[in-house]
Amino acid sequence: SIPLGYFGGIGAASRKGILFKGSNYLDQITRVTTVIFDKTGTLTKGVFSVQEEKAVARAHPDWKMLALSLESKSNHPIAAAFVQYLGKSPHPVSELREHAGQGLSGTVQNQAVLVGNRILLERMQVQNVPATSVSDKTIVHVAVEGNYCGYFALADELKPDARQAFRDLDSLGISETGILSGDRQEIVQALGRELGASQARGDLLPEEKSAWLENEKKQAGRVLAFVGDGINDAPALAVADIGIAMGGLGSDLAIETANVVIQTDRPSRVALAIRIGKTTKNIVW
Ligand code: ADP
Ligand code: MG
Repeated sequence: SIPLGYFGGIGAASRKGILFKGSNYLDQITRVTTVIFDKTGTLTKGVFSVQEEKAVARAHPDWKMLALSLESKSNHPIAAAFVQYLGKSPHPVSELREHAGQGLSGTVQNQAVLVGNRILLERMQVQNVPATSVSDKTIVHVAVEGNYCGYFALADELKPDARQAFRDLDSLGISETGILSGDRQEIVQALGRELGASQARGDLLPEEKSAWLENEKKQAGRVLAFVGDGINDAPALAVADIGIAMGGLGSDLAIETANVVIQTDRPSRVALAIRIGKTTKNIVW
């Protein structure tokens, strides 16, 4: 039988927008030693805006509209920024492919179009992808028929609560914290320094995120929580000892895979969930 105290804990959590999928997770969360966050949509708002664009000398004249055509088919937060910025009616697309954590490919007006990060373009054999100087922006590159055309620099904003999330974990004595992202290493490391995360890794594909977590889990005594917004995060949520999905942008698959769902967009709810677990345990035992 389940001790009555657990119901109290689950109720207290749900009033703060924290849903535990079972009393066992309320208990498990008190043992967490390490909290790893996804970046985009979890610590940042996941609302991008295009800040800058740059074309190479011989770019396809319609490169921006070709890129928009692919992006208008995607649900990724980056895609919304393109629609906002270029807004005009795109061309029809065939053979659309979403490369999770990398970008998009497809055929538009009989031309092969690629929109995504450096990893995607280089994997598709595009030459001359430039090293960009805008260090704090997410860069989306475009190629048409294998020829590099240019890039867009996009910015996202930190959630107002992100600093608090790390401070609260610290005051609970959880000093092992990290950020994992498919975004550029430079951006992720800068954010990690800013927030005081003990680890920060960028340039990761969704399956590399879960492999990284798998490896971290092997260390003795470690109990790992992963916090993600759901876009491409289901594998990592499944690998963690406790998978925590943030509401808002979260996909149904992530909410299904997670053990705990946070229905607000406040990452500091993670520390609160741990605190409620600890309080409940004191009452129960
Ligand atoms: P995160 O790990 O921070 O949550 P994602 O895994 O969703 O980020 O995406 C990682 C990277 O993949 C992005 O920073 C971007 O470079 C690229 N990317 C993903 N989706 C798209 C898209 N629709 N258009 C362009 N680039 C994309
Ligand atoms: Mg994400």
